[in-house]
Amino acid sequence: MKKFGLKSYVTKPETNPYAGKIICGHCNKPYIRKTWKSGHSLRKVWQCQERYRIKGIEGCSNQNIDESSISRAYDYVYEEIINRKDDYIKNCVTLRSELLNWLDIMERTLYNNF
Ligand SMILES: [Zn+2]
Repeated sequence: MKKFGLKSYVTKPETNPYAGKIICGHCNKPYIRKTWKSGHSLRKVWQCQERYRIKGIEGCSNQNIDESSISRAYDYVYEEIINRKDDYIKNCVTLRSELLNWLDIMERTLYNNF
């Protein structure tokens, strides 16, 4: 949290699910959501918080991201995780087994040496 200058993890996760989760690749600061009026509709756009830190002066030049693009990417990744869940579980079981074997070896080594 401190690494990215966040004051809290999530504010209103039900209405702002990406808050504190999008970090700028240029300056390492969080993105914040802005609502832009586009014609008669409102458009939610994420922008690096350093973009206009000083009023009227452009700071970080990293690009803005439409919230709809973030939602599509999130849905894609979520679906990939669900589709591969059996592989992930299998890998976790294998890692757990290997870790337990190593702990057993370490315990026997310590027991035999002391
Ligand atoms: Zn930035």
